[in-house]
This record gives sequence, structure tokens and C-alpha cells, in this order.
Amino acid sequence: MTIRVLPAGVAARIAAGEVIERPASVVKELIENSLDAGARVIGVETRHGGLASIRVTDDGCGIPENEVPLAFERHATSKLAAVEDLTNIGTLGFRGEALASIAAAASVRLTTRTAAAESATTVELEGGQVVRQSAAGAGPGTTIEVEALFSTIPARLKFIRSASAETARVRQTVDHLAMAHPHVQFTLKTDGRVQLATSGNGSQRDAVAAVHGAELAQAMIEVGSWTGAYPVWGLVGTPEQNRANRTGISLFVNSRWVQHRAVGVAVEEAYRGLLMEGRFPIAVVFLDVPPGEVDVNVHPNKREVRLSHEGDAFSSVQRAVREALLAASPIAEGEGLLSQSAPAAPPLAPSFEMTFASLEREQAPLPEPAPVAPEADAHAGLALPPGASPLSRLRVLGQVANTYIVADGPDGMYLIDQHSAHESVLYYRLLRQWANSAPEVQPMLEPLPMSLTPQQMDALGEGRAVLERFGLLVEPFGDDTLLVRAVPVMARRVDAAKLVAEALDDFAAKGRGADTHLSAAASIACHSAVRAGQTLELQEMTALGEALASELTPQHCPHGRPTVIRVSKDVLGRQFGRL
Ligand code: ADP
Ligand code: MG
Repeated sequence: MTIRVLPAGVAARIAAGEVIERPASVVKELIENSLDAGARVIGVETRHGGLASIRVTDDGCGIPENEVPLAFERHATSKLAAVEDLTNIGTLGFRGEALASIAAAASVRLTTRTAAAESATTVELEGGQVVRQSAAGAGPGTTIEVEALFSTIPARLKFIRSASAETARVRQTVDHLAMAHPHVQFTLKTDGRVQLATSGNGSQRDAVAAVHGAELAQAMIEVGSWTGAYPVWGLVGTPEQNRANRTGISLFVNSRWVQHRAVGVAVEEAYRGLLMEGRFPIAVVFLDVPPGEVDVNVHPNKREVRLSHEGDAFSSVQRAVREALLAASPIAEGEGLLSQSAPAAPPLAPSFEMTFASLEREQAPLPEPAPVAPEADAHAGLALPPGASPLSRLRVLGQVANTYIVADGPDGMYLIDQHSAHESVLYYRLLRQWANSAPEVQPMLEPLPMSLTPQQMDALGEGRAVLERFGLLVEPFGDDTLLVRAVPVMARRVDAAKLVAEALDDFAAKGRGADTHLSAAASIACHSAVRAGQTLELQEMTALGEALASELTPQHCPHGRPTVIRVSKDVLGRQFGRL
């Protein structure tokens, strides 16, 4: 074959594939054009996932009549004049490729009018060529209608699985553009149904509420930090508002929705110690970087950006989010309680085992095994030095509703949920024992036989080692029976068969994973902890408070519920009319 320059039409279709992967990329490009045109109201409508039609209407500046055909030429843009501008991009578009690519891949009709024009202009394109242009009646602004997308590129259509999946991506795209531009009023209709409607009132929280729901947005914590290398702001979820995946994390660099690994990790890092492993926060985080320090020209769809000083971006985001979380924490003023500056692997508070032993002895007079030696903690950051937490200075006063412990402490009154608090203490204690492979084991006087389902039997293969490292010693006995030979000391009064069954069910459901031991620990801790409704002696409550104080994460139980609430002196003062 001889080398030839491709015909323009073929080249255009190849290039179209790069910019517009799927209907959502068309929606993104069109909305970005509207935003660049200064629109305050943007309406988006799609049918059949955008494959049948996409229509974007804006009240932006419009295109002058004589420039309309030019807008569809490749590398035709009003946003960039010289190569120097590439290092200082202030608009969302600049490549001059979107309209050309879209026109190469679909039938397009554009109606536009500038404020100064007498009437609007309509232009229709087929296969990238203008087939009709005429005057039309319409107000200022631009409407683009895209029909039969990818009908000219059947190979691309094959990769698109379902209209509903495309609708979901369109929704996700508009969600993010709407959150990034709270001053603009967005409406999204898919197949005739309104999916999203923002007010455009400029409130970040309102825009986030339209996307994530009012209740969630209301409880989210405001981030705003201008002290790091780069300004960072936005809204982040409380630790309780977590998800099983990263879909709740939205990152924006210079108002552009981006994927960026380091910035994403920075957000997750900020939640360290506040979320269980395998859980992810909800966060809408904006980072502003001088245009010269960010390269958005990495990928045709501009979803990826390259930052000149990634480390600065990382620490700006990590610190800003962390600070906001600490400030919003109910007992946040406990300096050092959650702070990263706490030594990574301090020995356990000496009082921990002692005071806690008294709580357990009180519950059941069984012989105590030799206490574990204060260990060099392999699980960095699970323990704190004594006295670091304000909770260590609590004076327990009594119990309310046999469920909550009331205490006097630094700057106010503290309420402790006895079950969640105990659960949290036992959970971290189990994880420490796990890390050291040093479980506290209580052998059964007689082995306890239990029968298993086939799924539980299957799960036993891998689960057995996990259970043993927590002190749950089990032994297969025949085809569908198991002997429980020992349990963790803390679980000695718990129905061992139930505990094992629950753990195996969990292994069976989750499959192999790095965090199977976490759910096992959570389940053992939950079963072993004192219940709500159980009367406690003062001594027991004090022991629990002290044990709680020596943990890094006392504010939340493994399920993410709070363990401690502080009612500050100020709040009390206001309630009693003293302030
Ligand atoms: P780019 O956005 O990279 O400049 P596009 O192909 O997306 O390239 O658009 C080409 C040009 O068409 C833009 O530079 C702009 O001048 C004009 N344009 C496109 N959409 C609109 C719109 N909704 N309102 C006003 N002008 C528009
Ligand atoms: Mg554009």
C-alpha cells in the first residue's frame, strides 16, 4: 500500500472518536460551550441515553451569524489565539474540536442568536457538512440538537451497552457540572423526566443538595482553606456518611471535574482513622491552581489534568479536609485526639488493660488469662499515649435510660453510648491482638458442636485462619459439622455458634479480601459488648470511659455510629439563659 493522506471525512471520524467516546461526552462538551458563553440558565434533554437525541439550550452570548459555519470547522475556536494562551487557559474549551467531532458523528442542528442580532440563525449539518442555513425566530442564546449519534460510526455503537447505562453517565456528567457551577441554573430531562434541577442561586450547598439529596447535603461539612499552597474548598461528608465505593468523591481543579489520583488519595487520607477500611467518604472538593501550573491538555476529553506541583496539591487538600473534619467533630477540641502528629506506634496506656479488666471481671468471674504485654503496636496509630484524649479526664456521673453514660469533662457534659463505646474499644483491641497474632483465648470446657450450611463449610477453608487469629478455634468434624474449641476471652459469654455462623456467612458473602478480618472483628466486638438497656455500676462505667480514652477513634463505633457526644458549657449556658 502506498502512503496517502486520509480524506478529510475519514480523518474527522477518527478524531471524533477521541473527543466523544459516548453520549455523556457530547453532553459535557455542549454544556462546557454554554458555560464558556456565559450562560446562566442551561437546559439539557436526552432521549434513549442520548443516542436518539441530545438537546442543550443556553442563554449565553450566542454566535454571530457569519461565524456559525466556522464553529463546526476543526480547530476553530474563539477561545485561543496564540500558543502562549495554551499555558494560561481560563475557559473550559480551547481545542476547537468538539463541534467538529460531534457534527462528524451525528446529525446536528444549531440555532443561535447574539444579543445584538435582529434574528436567530439556524444551521443544519449532515456528515459534518452544512446542508441548510436560514434565519429563524428565537431569543438570545444557543440551542444545539444532536440526533442519531454515532449512526455514522457503527463500530462505536457496538461498544455502547445500554441506553440506561448511558443515561446514568449523562446524569453523572450534568451532576458534576452543576455542582461546579452553582451560579448557573441547570435542568436535566432524560426521556421526558426531570432528573436534576438546580436553582442557580450560587449556594454550593444547594447545588450539592440537588445532586446528593437535601438531607445529606445539610449535614455535610464545609471546607475552606486558603493557608495551604493552593486554596481548597467545598463540602465533605461526615464520617457517618460513607459509601462502599469512591463514587461519592468529586474532584474539581479550577472548576473542571477531573480524575486525579493524588488529589483523590488526599481526600481519603483526611478521613484516616475515621472510616472503616473499605468505606469511602462523600466529598465535593475544589482545588484552585494557577493556570500555568496545570496542564489540561493531557487527554482530548480533558478529564485528566497534570499538576506541576502534585505534592503541594496533595497536602493542601489533605490538610484542608482534615481540618474541617476535626473542627466539626463533636469533641474536636481534644487537641491531639485525632491529630496526625500523635506518635505512630506508642505503647498502650498502662491503665487500659487494668481498668478494662475490672469491667470484665465484674461481668463474669472467670479466671483471667495472663494480660497481653503492652505491645509495640504493629497497627500504626491504633493507640494513643495516656492523657492525650480529653476523654481521659472524664468524671462519670451516672447512667441514663440504662443506655447512656453521663460524664463531666473538659468544657461540658459528655454522653457516651455504652454499647457503641464498648464495641469500639473491643474492636480496636481485637485488631491490636490480630496485628500481633496474640489473641486472648478462652478454651471451652467442652467443645461445642455446630452444624454448617454448605456455603459456610466452603467459607471455612479460608475463614478458619482468620477466626483463629482472633482466638476462635474451630475444627471440622465430619461433612457438615464443626467443633468450636475456644473463643476470644471477651466473647466468652456470647453464643459461640452464632458468632461463628455469622462470621462464616460474612466470609461467604464477601469472598476473599484484605478486609475480611475487619468485619470479623466488628462482629465479635458487637456481640461481646455490653447491651443498651443493661444496668452498669459506676466502676464499670468509669472503666469503660477510660478504655475509650485510650483509643485513637473513640468517636465512632465500627459501624460508624457516634460513641460520644459533647454538650459544651456554652450550649448549656445558652439553654439556661446565662450567655
Ligand atoms: P472550543 O469550545 O474548544 O472553542 P468547540 O468546537 O466546542 O470548540 O466550539 C467552537 C466555537 O463555537 C467556540 O470557540 C465558540 O466560539 C462557539 N460556540 C460553541 N458553542 C457555543 C455556545 N453554546 N454559545 C456560544 N458560542 C458557542
Ligand atoms: Mg467546546
